Amino acid sequence: MNECKDIKYELLFNSPFIIASSVIDSGNYDMVSVLSNGVPYIPGSSIRGRIKAAIRQHCVENDKTYKVSFDEYNHICDAQKTGKGKFCENIKKSCPLCRIFGIPGSEITRGYDFSGAYINETNEELFEKINKNSPEAIYQKRTRNKINPLLKRSEEDALFTAGMVDLPLPFEGNIIEIASYNKNVDDKIKKIDRVLILLAMRLVTNIGGNRNRGSGQCRFNPLDKDWEVDINTHIEIWKSKRNIINENIQKTSCRSN
Ligand SMILES: [Zn+2]
Repeated sequence: MNECKDIKYELLFNSPFIIASSVIDSGNYDMVSVLSNGVPYIPGSSIRGRIKAAIRQHCVENDKTYKVSFDEYNHICDAQKTGKGKFCENIKKSCPLCRIFGIPGSEITRGYDFSGAYINETNEELFEKINKNSPEAIYQKRTRNKINPLLKRSEEDALFTAGMVDLPLPFEGNIIEIASYNKNVDDKIKKIDRVLILLAMRLVTNIGGNRNRGSGQCRFNPLDKDWEVDINTHIEIWKSKRNIINENIQKTSCRSN
């Protein structure tokens, strides 16, 4: 068994954001962001959700556009793709989403855990100082309207004030490789999954905000020094596979003419 390889990263927001907690009517706000020891943080479940969605979108789009199908990479089982149908049945022949995120209630457990993202101790002191002297520098009041999820439009008389967090300090988090995954999945596949996670991190540009109104904009920076090389190598392999397939398609169509 190889040593487990975690993916450490920095997450930086360049706009105010809100990861809504269930705390209602706190001070002057109807809704505030989740706090850990009084300091805003990003829960692991939020990060996991965004990365999962990005991997899904990337794989499904490539599958559609290039028709390149090497199963371990971009084939996503129906249950992961649409929420209907079957999940993968076997960890050895599983799609990336089942391998990385696991299947609820199945013996295929997740390959990675997602920690929350927190500001570091030094910055925490800085945060406490600012929060004590001028909390308005951190929490921005914004009036928002509840959106009806079914009708996808604003509900009437449902205005609420959100305490948007404006904190241009880096959050730090970790994506942790699980030992059983490390043991059961072969190295080539592990590398694919790792690159997919890195790629997804770069594709996520928004957490806890509203894309259209410009809140919650963020950037993940993996701290692993090789991440850029890994992603670029992967994209090159991908392109050459695509070119070979396209050439074959052209050859076939020439012959049939
Ligand atoms: Zn699957």
